[in-house]
Amino acid sequence: MTTNELFSQDKSYVMQTYGRFPVAIERGEGATLYDPEGKAYIDFASGIGVLSIGTAHPKFVEAVSAQAGKLAHASNLFFTEPGVILAKRLCEKSGMDKVFFSNSGAESNEGMIKLARKYSTDRYDNDRTEIITLVNSFHGRTISTLAATGQDVFHQYFYPFTEGFAHVPANDLDALKAAATDRTCAVMMELVQGEGGVLPLDRGYVKAVESFCKENDLLLLIDEVQTGIGRTGTLFAFQGYGISPDVVSCAKGIGGGLPLGAVLASKTCSDVLGPGTHATTFGANPICTAAGNAVLDVLEDGILESVSEKGAYLRSKIEEMGFATRGMGLMIGIVVEAGTHKETVKKLIEQGLLCITAGKDAIRLLPPLTITKDEMDRGLAILKQVLCGGSK
Ligand SMILES: *Cc1c(COP(=O)(O)O)cnc(C)c1O
Repeated sequence: MTTNELFSQDKSYVMQTYGRFPVAIERGEGATLYDPEGKAYIDFASGIGVLSIGTAHPKFVEAVSAQAGKLAHASNLFFTEPGVILAKRLCEKSGMDKVFFSNSGAESNEGMIKLARKYSTDRYDNDRTEIITLVNSFHGRTISTLAATGQDVFHQYFYPFTEGFAHVPANDLDALKAAATDRTCAVMMELVQGEGGVLPLDRGYVKAVESFCKENDLLLLIDEVQTGIGRTGTLFAFQGYGISPDVVSCAKGIGGGLPLGAVLASKTCSDVLGPGTHATTFGANPICTAAGNAVLDVLEDGILESVSEKGAYLRSKIEEMGFATRGMGLMIGIVVEAGTHKETVKKLIEQGLLCITAGKDAIRLLPPLTITKDEMDRGLAILKQVLCGGSK
C-alpha cells in the first residue's frame, strides 16, 4: 500500500484513537527508516523509546527468527528457557531479586501496584493501600494506571477510577511527607518524567524519598518503563541515582520492538506475589524474551557505555544552536517556547527527522542506543535547519 492508501484505510477500519503524524513507516536499518515511497527518515524517536537497538539489528533478527522457528508460545503453565535466562540476567545486572514478565508498561505498573498493596495488606490491615505518585507523572492507560498518573487531563471519561492514589508535586519532600498517612503503602515515581516533559528528579529529593520510605515501611516503586534498559546511561536510571528501590517496572526498550514488560522486585518483597495471585497468558513469551536477551547482548557489547557520551554530544550540539536541553543519557528534551513544540516536531518530521513532543515545551529525542555518529550528525543537520533556519 502507498502512504495515501494507508491513511484512507486506517480511517475506515481502525479506531481513531491516535493523533498520528502523516507518515507511514515500512522498513529500516539502524536509526534510518523508510516510508513506502522510499523517503528516508533519521530515527530520533525509536517508536517512543522502544527500538533500543535500532531497527533490524542482526542480533535481534537472528534471535527472533531462531526462536520463532523453535517455539512461539507455551503459556506459563510450563517452563521455557528464554524468559528464565532474561530474568537471571536482569537480576544480576540490577541487584534486584526476582522478575515477573508482562506485555507492556501499563501492565508492569499494574503488577507493581498489586505487589505493593499485597505487601502492605499481608503485614498491616486492609486499609493500608494508598500509593503516593507525583504531579505531572505518566504511568499508563489502564483504569488504575490512569488513576496513578498525576495529570488531570487523564482523569476523565472512564469513571469510576481506581481509588487509592494521592498526587504530590515533584521535588517537594514536605508535600510528600504531608500526604503520607497510616493508610499509605508506597511511593511510585519516574526518575525522569518522560511524557511530562523530560524532567529529571533532583538527586537529593530522590535520596530523601528513599530514606522516608525505608523509615515508614513504604515500598519505593520506580516506573522505569521509559528510563530503563540503558536509556539514561545506566541499565536502570535508579542505578545512576544510587538508590535501592523495592520494585522497578520496565517495558518500552526491553523487547527491542516486541511487546514485553517486566516487574523487578528486590529481596524485601520478591515473594509477595505467590502462586495464583498474578498472571498473564503471554507473560515471558519466548520470542519476546529471546529478543530481550538480544537487546542485553548488544548493550553488553559496548553500547551501554556509549549512551552518556552520545547524549552529551547531541546536547552540546543542540545547545550550540542556542537551545536549552534537559534529560539524561539518550533521553533528551529540547526546550522551546511553550506551545510551539508540536508545530516544530511536525516540521522536523517533514524534513526527515522523527522525534516526538513531551510536556508543554519540549521536543523529545529518544534515539536508538545504537545510533551512529553519522546518523546523529544527519539528525542534527535537520534540527539546525528547522530550529535555526527561520521560516523555511
Ligand atoms: C510509556 C509509559 C508507560 C505506559 O507504557 P505502555 O506500554 O504504553 O502501557 C508507563 N510509564 C511510563 C513512564 C511510560 O513512559
